[in-house]
Amino acid sequence: MPIGSSNIKPSEALLLLQNYEESRQGWFWSTDPSGNLTYISEFIAEVLSGKATQLLGKPVGSLFLKPAESEAGSRTLPFILTKKLQFNSLEVQAADSAEECWLSISGRPYHDKSGNFLGFLGSGHDVTAQRRTTLDTSRLAMFDSLTGLPNRANMAKKLESTLAAYQLQKRACAVMLVDLDRFKQINDTLGHPAGDILLKQVAERLLKVVDQSGEVCRLGGDEFQIMLPDCDDRGTLGDLASKIISSLSQPYSVAGNRCIIGASIGVAISPFDGLCSDDIVKSADLALYEAKGNGRGRFRFYSQELQQSAEDRRLLEEDLRDAIANGEMELAYQPVVNAKTNIVEGFEALMRWNHSERGMISPALFIPIAEDANLIWELGEWAIHQACADAVKWPGKVRVAVNVSPSQFANDLFPTVIDAALSASGLAAERLELELTEGVFMAETNETNAMFNALKGRKVRLALDDFGTGYSSLSYLKTAPFDKIKIDQNFVRGATEPGSRNGAIIAAIVALAEALGMETTAEGIETLDEFELITKLNVSHVQGFVYSKAVSNETLVENLDGGHWTIEPTGPAHHRNERLSMYRKVRLIHENHAYSIVIRNLSVTGALVEGLFNVPIGTKFVIDFGEGQLALATVYRSSGNQQGIKFETRLVSDGNGALCTSRRVSPYLIAEAGLEVPNLPAGYVPTTKIDRDSLSLPAFSTVADWTATRVKPK
Ligand code: C2E
Ligand code: MG
Ligand code: MG
Repeated sequence: MPIGSSNIKPSEALLLLQNYEESRQGWFWSTDPSGNLTYISEFIAEVLSGKATQLLGKPVGSLFLKPAESEAGSRTLPFILTKKLQFNSLEVQAADSAEECWLSISGRPYHDKSGNFLGFLGSGHDVTAQRRTTLDTSRLAMFDSLTGLPNRANMAKKLESTLAAYQLQKRACAVMLVDLDRFKQINDTLGHPAGDILLKQVAERLLKVVDQSGEVCRLGGDEFQIMLPDCDDRGTLGDLASKIISSLSQPYSVAGNRCIIGASIGVAISPFDGLCSDDIVKSADLALYEAKGNGRGRFRFYSQELQQSAEDRRLLEEDLRDAIANGEMELAYQPVVNAKTNIVEGFEALMRWNHSERGMISPALFIPIAEDANLIWELGEWAIHQACADAVKWPGKVRVAVNVSPSQFANDLFPTVIDAALSASGLAAERLELELTEGVFMAETNETNAMFNALKGRKVRLALDDFGTGYSSLSYLKTAPFDKIKIDQNFVRGATEPGSRNGAIIAAIVALAEALGMETTAEGIETLDEFELITKLNVSHVQGFVYSKAVSNETLVENLDGGHWTIEPTGPAHHRNERLSMYRKVRLIHENHAYSIVIRNLSVTGALVEGLFNVPIGTKFVIDFGEGQLALATVYRSSGNQQGIKFETRLVSDGNGALCTSRRVSPYLIAEAGLEVPNLPAGYVPTTKIDRDSLSLPAFSTVADWTATRVKPK
């Protein structure tokens, strides 16, 4: 028998409905013709903050909030009620409930036999839980659940829409990619939960430093991205990047462990380095890769030459795999000198790569590549063996210091490498010094202490290298058994600048070191004023060009006469505003002519240029460094075909020891000057164009003119 209402008695139907109401799965309501409640199930009335009897007579629409703009469908409840329409599953929010409560209601108008409208009959059920789940899921899709920051998809959308709008308005927007250095080791040594805590702290620090200037997102893993609208000043961006790096490099406290990580940053700016979000992120990524490759803990701006250099590094990595077998690695030795007596007391072994095609390659370039490519263990082992083998043949008893990468130090097998090198060479352990950087403290675990004990147990000496570049905590000096602290050259260089507090800090380090029975070495001393300052501060040893650069093993043996070598410190009186010597062809624009000239040296404030004759002092022109980098300059010295020029605006660091202009000329303006720019949107037509026919005669003769008139065919 089919189930049909006609077969159920009214009393049974009522019982069924009561049962249903009591199960609280749903409820019923009805109104009179004016939309005032005539019935509502008791339990939902309580949720809606009242007794059923108190709610009766109230307009049904008043029980619910007016829908927010985003929620509004085409028809709202009051509209439906006045129009006497049937409706299904309309989601409404209770107006007076104690907790947020969402209901789905349905209703239909009912009439008497003559067709007169009597009101609405309806039902409803609670959908709060479903709604929460949907919201959570959409939040999950847009935000990183660990840090709460916007996620990759969210940021990609924002960046895309910002850049699209900015293209029309010709506005600039910078993107920074931040990648944590050594995060993987923390995760491996302390475990993933600790890694998660660390990432949260990183996110907090990033938000604090970036503040209102931009938006931070987590791309995933240990990668973060920052969007900085209306920011194209590379001076400001460089300062912000440095601030971020220094903030993220302060120690973290994670589940009772102290740990240290670092950060590298790549920066790209639209419209200069790409227009759409894909291109700008690719450019920032390339800059990041370069920053990591150049020793980490740095920032780098994108420039077109990076395309080539990323490829270069990949090739170097391939060659590095065979470098030891091909006999291309060498050690050079730099004297470490007692600053009071000028007597050489030891040498630091510095690795050199004599590449068959490229010549000498600096360890600052290949050591980070080796670390990334897991080749550092093999290279490091070779260096220790070679240094011990060389040192044992030196006359006298001077020491040899070898650099050790954090990943070597973290390897349980490291002490056995030391044993093997000492026993193969026969060198006394006291003559071997290992130089460790603060990187070995990134996670202070029991293993770190065990490794220190294992090394000390073998009687080798330990030096803390590059002090002053990382976090420079004095606290681990108290616990780690160092014999020496090496103060980094940048720290020393800063100390001679007026107003610097580095001098006072060096004095404090020396006092602490003396109290703990450690030696101090100042690295990278080049000038006599640095030397004077450092000796005044009682630093016991000096290593730097003021005494000697690193020399070959043969030169070392020649000079180490009977085991003694005394060197007089010599060098320039002080640092000049650091000039980079170079031979770089650039364009010089004077009035409406462009000349090709050569930059011979460059500092933040000026340059020496070569290529034009008879240029009067006071002449103003523009140097075009390429990629929209124009610098306005004035000639202050002129002789023959060389001029000393002073820039109107100081150049800034590009994060890699080179200089760049703080701002660049927008590619839109370059297009208006009638020049080709690769970066502009397809079909972009400049509004004005320079009339190239109105150019006057050039004011200066060039080297090319000069040679053309002098060199006559015979
Ligand atoms: P480091 O251990 O701090 O070595 C000192 C660096 O400063 C050397 O650079 C040295 O040539 C340079 N230097 C010394 N005096 C002066 C000075 O007066 N002025 C200037 N401007 N520089 C000076 P180098 O040889 O290019 O080595 C760079 C870094 O590469 C080293 O820094 C070290 O961290 C790493 N490295 C070198 N050899 C090895 C190695 O065998 N293993 C490992 N893991 N790292 C190595
Ligand atoms: Mg060193
Ligand atoms: Mg050093």
